Amino acid sequence: MTYEPAESSKLTAYLGHVVSPISPTTYVDYDQGALLVDEEGVIAAVGPWAQIKQSEILVERIVDFGKRLILPGFIDLHLHLPQFTQTGKSGQTLLGWLQANIFPAEAAFSDAAYAGRIASWFFDELARNGTTLGVVFPTIHAEATDIAFKTAAARGNRVVMGKVMMDFNAPENLSEDFNVSLQESEQLCKRWHGHDRDRLLYAFTPRFALTSSANLMRGTARLWSRFDGTYLQTHLAENKEEVDVARHQFPGARSYLDIYDGHGLVGKRALFAHSIYLDQRDFDVLSENGAAIAHCPSSNFFLKSGVFPFKRAMESRVRFGLASDIAGGPEMSMFKVMKDATYMQFELFISPRELFYLSTLAGAEALQLEDRIGSLAAGKEADFIVVDPTRKSGVVEHILSQPTDEILSAMIYMGDDRMIVSTYVRGVPIYETDETVFRENLAYTDSFSERESLCKQKG
Ligand SMILES: [Zn+2]
Repeated sequence: MTYEPAESSKLTAYLGHVVSPISPTTYVDYDQGALLVDEEGVIAAVGPWAQIKQSEILVERIVDFGKRLILPGFIDLHLHLPQFTQTGKSGQTLLGWLQANIFPAEAAFSDAAYAGRIASWFFDELARNGTTLGVVFPTIHAEATDIAFKTAAARGNRVVMGKVMMDFNAPENLSEDFNVSLQESEQLCKRWHGHDRDRLLYAFTPRFALTSSANLMRGTARLWSRFDGTYLQTHLAENKEEVDVARHQFPGARSYLDIYDGHGLVGKRALFAHSIYLDQRDFDVLSENGAAIAHCPSSNFFLKSGVFPFKRAMESRVRFGLASDIAGGPEMSMFKVMKDATYMQFELFISPRELFYLSTLAGAEALQLEDRIGSLAAGKEADFIVVDPTRKSGVVEHILSQPTDEILSAMIYMGDDRMIVSTYVRGVPIYETDETVFRENLAYTDSFSERESLCKQKG
């Protein structure tokens, strides 16, 4: 526990079982813990409540979650807003699935009213699933993208997002002139990048090499270098057929990644979704340049794309975290994505601790945002969720009294949105259940067990 007095700022103490990753194998663990948040939404202190209570720190308000878990919010490194209407439509591999289901769904976003309705639904569902930061692909439409930013701005979500760019080999109603694509991207970036103290950040978003001309990629690289702190996101080596098409389209490139590298699109704050079919040199290029991977296990399972070389990515020290890839992946819940990440690896057991790290702090590291979010520590912004595994059927009643590793395991293997009690971005609730409100009004008593029994009587 550390504490920097935030002058005259009124503090809220969120009490509960605070668990937060430090590394892939370690975490802080305060079973009667407190998370103190100031009025700016910055964490003032994290530690045992008994210790904080006896210190000089003045607490204005207490929200008591008893034995429930207080965790950093999930970071979903890759998902598609317009595809939310297509979740669960199976039966094809990537390129056929794009043509049959996805491109028609994206074309519908030329209608602004429709785009607004789906955006509201999408951002509410992210909050309901405990995802505090989503790295989002909208569509090529500037108006629909602007609406998506407005919706996230109003609802309080944290996002990295940018208009999709496609100027080659795309359906006619989703194809644009590369100059128009660059101009619209620049305008959206100027309007939204850094909004609300960097809660919204811009990502230049060429869909993938298959739908990009060399001009589009070069122009994107120039734009990306002009605006500090912006991202570059695209798809890379998801499916074998896609890799063959890319190589045929750019015969001079050494590999699929080399296409992007040759056009200036590999560097810090570049995020490549999937990255299944890479060789060692590709991994070294990513690692040396500080570029990152969004690993999408559920999507790779669903579209039968292949198995991500998890061990090689770890050994190569590439920054990577987890992503749902809605609607390539059918579930927005990061609990499901964590579970699939270990299910996908037939010869590798990924521990619950490591999965927890991959869906939180590793995502922040991939985005170069680990100084601000991804774990619960003094000075970071208070993006956190309250989780109660017993809200899900089939979970043993006394799970919250078991060792923390067992709680994490039950949460990951059995979890879904029902386990989420509330979701906060920078100290502001963006999703609450009846239980949140009840807990806030609960009379404070000294012992945790007393409060738990009081909750049982009241609830
Ligand atoms: Zn995708």
